[in-house]
Amino acid sequence: MEITTHFFFNLSLLIIVLFFSLVIARKLNYTTLPKFWALCCVIVMLIICFQLSYKPHPELHFDLRIIPIAIAGLYIGIGPSVAVCAVVLRGFYGLDEGFIMHTVLFIVFGLTTWFYYSHFWKLSASKRIYYSIIKTIIFSLITLFAIELSITVENRFDIWFAYLVIPALGVGMIAYIIEFVLQNEDIQKKVIRTEKMEAVEQMGAAISHEIRNPLTAAMGFVHLMKEPAISPKKRMEYLSIVKEELESAERVIQNYLTFSKPSLGYIEEIPVKTELLKIINILKPTANQNSVEIKTNFAILGSIEGDRQKFHQCFLNVIKNSIESMPRGGHIIIYTHYTKTHITIEVEDTGVGMSSEQIKRLGEPYYSTKGSKGTGLGMMVVFSIVKAMKGTIKVESEINQGTTFTFTFPTYNHSSKNERF
Ligand code: ADP
Ligand code: MG
Repeated sequence: MEITTHFFFNLSLLIIVLFFSLVIARKLNYTTLPKFWALCCVIVMLIICFQLSYKPHPELHFDLRIIPIAIAGLYIGIGPSVAVCAVVLRGFYGLDEGFIMHTVLFIVFGLTTWFYYSHFWKLSASKRIYYSIIKTIIFSLITLFAIELSITVENRFDIWFAYLVIPALGVGMIAYIIEFVLQNEDIQKKVIRTEKMEAVEQMGAAISHEIRNPLTAAMGFVHLMKEPAISPKKRMEYLSIVKEELESAERVIQNYLTFSKPSLGYIEEIPVKTELLKIINILKPTANQNSVEIKTNFAILGSIEGDRQKFHQCFLNVIKNSIESMPRGGHIIIYTHYTKTHITIEVEDTGVGMSSEQIKRLGEPYYSTKGSKGTGLGMMVVFSIVKAMKGTIKVESEINQGTTFTFTFPTYNHSSKNERF
């Protein structure tokens, strides 16, 4: 069984080459092997086959070169080029009778694989594997008859076993590995597509809910204001509700815009205390509706550098979440601390709190515990804005006790700003 042992050794080397070519292709981020790269791998496989061929006679080389030619021909459609490479390589080992037999057989085989290439890809994955195996067996049989005709065979069983079983086994195994890799890529693509579709669906649902609701409410009050009998006081009240509703719709749109484009716009000095007071003023009506009292304890000094509008958006989301976490009322305390290097902003509430699992999920797109009332966009936007402003976020929370968000930003440095201009 000398030839069989030889062939098994040869096959294991071919599989090692295939393994490394797949690893390198993956590292280089090739989804499918480019033809040139595949041709190089096949040539390496052919060289290994020739170098390790079994030579019962100086003019005869028994080896597994059929495997790379079958795989390259059927799977990549480069059968004729690989066959030509094999003929050239065989030429280096002598232009003898074996060379002529080899040339005829391999050119014919290369051409037939090329001819069937497009038909081959119309088959299902399992049929492709069977097809490759059957084609290899047919070719092995032709080779065996050619051998029988050209020499007096001594160890017939060994030759027949080696030629009929091992090439078919090798082609079958390699075809299976290729199909497995292709199927994996297909699944990956499908998962990405499904995730994108889900994101679009969630976004659509969130937009229609979060924007349609305030717009419908605003429209209702606009209709009410059309009434001629309405008192000026009531009209002002309705107007302020309309304004609030429109602002809420605008906030949702703003969150989506930040979600798709998180970079900062115009960078300027942000006096933390002044800006936080503006944000609290915007949210006061909502806080009052929820019986939430907002207290402040601000350091006198303190500016940070960033996009003022995004800063507003960030703290509007944080404080709004705090208000919403207290459906039966409560209070929020906002502290700021100032040091020469850092400004800390703390938002503390006495709301429902969060478990450590919930805290871990903060900032995940569409993560919300508010059912149809939530979009799960607020915290995601908060995290991206704080990151863009070189800040950090710490969250401490206890169920039914409350939550404290601590934000730290680098202090705005006048002197370094002046030096830069
Ligand atoms: P949404 O407010 O639309 O639910 P967010 O991204 O703003 O989405 O918040 C995500 C989730 O984080 C909320 O649904 C809530 O469960 C939790 N959360 C955020 N802030 C607080 C808070 N101060 N107290 C309790 N839970 C909070
Ligand atoms: Mg929110």
